[in-house]
Amino acid sequence: MRIITIANQKGGVGKTTTAINLATALAAIDKRALLIDLDPQGNASTGLGIDKDDREISSYDVLKETASIREAAMPTAVPNLAVIPSTMDLLGFEMEISGVHGRAYRLRDALHFHQQDQADFDFVLVDCPPSLNLLTINAMAAADAILVPLQCEFFALEGLSQLLQTVEEVRDSLNPMLGLHGIVLTMFDSRNNLAAQVVRDVRSFMGEHVYETVIPRNVRVSEAPSFGKPAILYDMKCPGSQAYIQLASEVIRREGRLVAA
Ligand code: ADP
Ligand code: MG
Repeated sequence: MRIITIANQKGGVGKTTTAINLATALAAIDKRALLIDLDPQGNASTGLGIDKDDREISSYDVLKETASIREAAMPTAVPNLAVIPSTMDLLGFEMEISGVHGRAYRLRDALHFHQQDQADFDFVLVDCPPSLNLLTINAMAAADAILVPLQCEFFALEGLSQLLQTVEEVRDSLNPMLGLHGIVLTMFDSRNNLAAQVVRDVRSFMGEHVYETVIPRNVRVSEAPSFGKPAILYDMKCPGSQAYIQLASEVIRREGRLVAA
């Protein structure tokens, strides 16, 4: 089981879209995937068609140790893909648990407690809230590696050093094995000259950490969540879906190298 946390403290950069579609693409190539929604907004849960009323057991229960991963995982319309949905209860988590020993390890402990649960999944993707709060720290402490979506816009790199600094701190204090899986450029608009410049800048700054795959801005991708479907299910042929399928194979290739290292 490999755990990849999708994080960026900026909102609207494509974290949730990447989590949903990467998980779907991995499931489509026969990897058993689990998406854990750690954002109180619950966009990943909604985008996978889980209605608010159906979220009886949520990621909050997992963090509060009232449910196991296996108990909380719900099937989705995508074969091989399960989701642990989130609820607004998550908003209270940080306050409720302040001062409690091991509070940053709640997700890691849940993922590692039951040996059988580990055998259930090949990939666990964690979708983070747009903040470097205790939920994101839990997701980083639990992860083998971080995947960072960056939107192709002028301020793309702003905030990246703070994010990488946090990854460094988590590695020093909580999770020495934490790696940077890679940076994926999202919402690329080929008609915008600036976007191509941003891609060049990010590549020259972050080198081989940046995936070759760039996700194009694609209206089909933004429509899909309102149908409760991953873009890959809603319109597999659209350029955005195809890019996420390509990203999945790049992630798998990189996995081979990360595991060997
Ligand atoms: P985050 O989780 O980082 O806040 P989202 O994945 O929710 O970001 O994306 C923010 C908005 O941009 C959403 O409305 C989403 O549908 C849209 N979006 C994300 N990726 C694309 C894309 N490749 N093409 C078009 N719209 C996109
Ligand atoms: Mg999101």
